Amino acid sequence: MSEPSAASPVKAFDAIVIGAGFAGMNMLYRLRELGLSARVYERGTDVGGTWYWNRYPGARCDTESMTYSFSFSKELEQDWNWTERYAPQSEILDYARHVADRFEMRRDIQFETDVIAAHYEEATGLWVVRTSAGERATARFLISAVGCLASAPAVPKYPGIENFQGAWYHTGHWPHEPVDLAGKRIGIIGTGSSGVQSTIAIAPVASHLYVFQRTANYSVPSWNGPLAPATRDEIKAKYDSWREAARYGQIGIPFVSNGKSAKEQSPEDREIEYEAAWAEGGFNFIMTYPDLLMDLESNRTAAEFVERKIRGKVKDPVVADLLVPKDHPIGTKRICVDTGYYETFNRDNVTLVDIRSAPIETITETGIHTHHAHYDLDVIIFATGFDAITGPLMRLDIRGKGGLSLRDKWAEGPRNYLGISAVGFPNFFTITGPGSPSVLSNMLTSIEQHVDWVADCLRFMADQGAKSIEPTLEAENDWVQQVHDLGHATLYPMVESWYTGTNIPGKLRMFTPYAGGVGTYRQLCDDVVAKGYTGFALSAAE
Ligand code: NAP
Repeated sequence: MSEPSAASPVKAFDAIVIGAGFAGMNMLYRLRELGLSARVYERGTDVGGTWYWNRYPGARCDTESMTYSFSFSKELEQDWNWTERYAPQSEILDYARHVADRFEMRRDIQFETDVIAAHYEEATGLWVVRTSAGERATARFLISAVGCLASAPAVPKYPGIENFQGAWYHTGHWPHEPVDLAGKRIGIIGTGSSGVQSTIAIAPVASHLYVFQRTANYSVPSWNGPLAPATRDEIKAKYDSWREAARYGQIGIPFVSNGKSAKEQSPEDREIEYEAAWAEGGFNFIMTYPDLLMDLESNRTAAEFVERKIRGKVKDPVVADLLVPKDHPIGTKRICVDTGYYETFNRDNVTLVDIRSAPIETITETGIHTHHAHYDLDVIIFATGFDAITGPLMRLDIRGKGGLSLRDKWAEGPRNYLGISAVGFPNFFTITGPGSPSVLSNMLTSIEQHVDWVADCLRFMADQGAKSIEPTLEAENDWVQQVHDLGHATLYPMVESWYTGTNIPGKLRMFTPYAGGVGTYRQLCDDVVAKGYTGFALSAAE
C-alpha cells in the first residue's frame, strides 16, 4: 500500500460507497438519481462482489433467479432473461456486468482499489477516505456495501500448507484463469454451500475426489434446470406483485408458510407437507412450518424427514450415516440447496473422509494427513467459509466522532440502529449490516430495501437542510436489545456456525442478524420514516 503524501490531491464527492457488488451498484444508481456525486471503490477488477470472487466450479445462487435480481428498473426486469431456475455464477456475473454497462456505472467506480481507512472529521463534517491506491477522498456520506461474506474468506491455519507441492485454492477467492482439475486427485475441505456445490461439479472430472467433512450439513434439492420461457414470462407479467410478496415475506422471497405448528400436525399431514416442499425444492423447505426455526420438537420432524431422504439416496449405509447431520437442528446452520449432492457419494471416485473423528493434522508436500491416514492429492480446495457478517466491515479502519473506531465500538458485538446506522458515526450507513435481516434473507430484496431507505433518508436530509444524521443512544440500545431478543427466541444461537461467529477462532460468539422477518423489518423501517425519523438525531447545516 502506498501512503498518500500530504501533497496528494484530495478528491471530493457527496458520497463514497465501499464495494461494487449488487449493493454498491444499486446505491450508485440511487445516488445519481438524487443528483449526488459519488465514487464507488472496489477491490476487484469488475463489478459483481460475491459473484466476482466466488468462481469455483458449481457456484450458483441458492435463491431463484427471478427473485434474486434487481427490481429498481422495470425495463431491466423485462429485458433480462434468466436461463436457469437457479443461475450459475457466470450468468449472475454477466447480469451484474450488463447492469453496470446499461446504466453506465463504471465511470463512477474505481476498480482495484481498497478502502483502507475512513475517518470522520468533526470540524468539516466530512468522511476522509484513504485508499490502497494512495489517494485521499472526502465525502459527506459514507456507505458500506461490503457485503456479509465474500471479502473475508477464511483459510484454516493447518501446519505444513506452505510445503504442499500441488495447488490450493479457497472457493471464495477462486482464480480468474481456468483451473484444470481434470484427472486430478482433489481434496475439498468443508461441506457448507460452497463445498456441496463444488463437490457435485468436481466429482465427474476428478480422478478421485476426497471430501473432508467435519460437520454434516442438511441439503435440500433445488431441482435446478432450464427456466422455461413460459414460466419466465408468467412471472414477468406479474412482476410487481411478485416483488411485493418478496418484500413482505419472511425471508425476502414470494413464499407464504402454512401458518401451522409442525409438532401439532399429525405425522401423516406433516409428511404430505414436507413431500410437497421437497418436490417444490429450494430454501423454502425450512419455511414449511413457521415454527421450524423456533421450536426444537417441530424442527426435529423436518430433520427426520430429510434424514430419511439422505439415507434413501446414499447406497453405502456407513457413508449415509456420516452424511446425516447429528449436531444441529435443521436450518440453524445455513441449509444447502443442491442438485445431486448425496448421490455424488455413490460414485466410485468419491470418498467421504470424516475429519470429526480423525482431524486433519498436517498438510504435507503430497497431500493431507489426518489422524488416521494420509491422502495423496494434486489439488486442495478450501471450502471453509468466511469471517461473516461483521468480518468484511471489521477489516476496515473506520473511525467516527472523537476518533472512536468501529472495531472498538463493536468489540462486544455490533451496536447500531436498524442495522443501518451507529451512534458516533454520522452519515455512515451499512447496507445489509448486522442487526438487519441480511443473511437470513434473499440478499437482493434486503439490499434494495436498505438502499431505498438510505436514498430516501438523504432526500429527507436535503429537504430539511440537515447536515448530518445519527441515531440516538436510546434508539440504538433498544434496537440491539430487540435484535438480541428476537434472535434468542429462535434456535439459531444454540449452534456453532458462521451465523454465530464460532467458525472463526477467537471471534466473539454472538448471533447478530435481525430474526423478526424481512416484511416486519421493512415495516419498522418505514414506520421510522413515517414518524419523521424517530430514533435519529439530525443536525442542521450551518
Ligand atoms: P460455510 O457454510 O461456513 O462452510 C464451511 C465449511 O468448512 C463447513 O463445513 C465447516 O465445518 C468447514 N470448515 C471450516 N473450517 C474448517 C476447519 N478448520 N477444518 C475443517 N473444516 C472446516 O462456508 P460456505 O460453504 O462458503 O458458505 C458460506 C455461506 O455463503 C453460505 O451459507 C451461503 O450463505 C453463502 N453461499 C451461498 C451459495 C449459494 O448461493 N448457493 C454458495 C456458496 C456460499 P464446520 O461446520 O464443522 O465448521
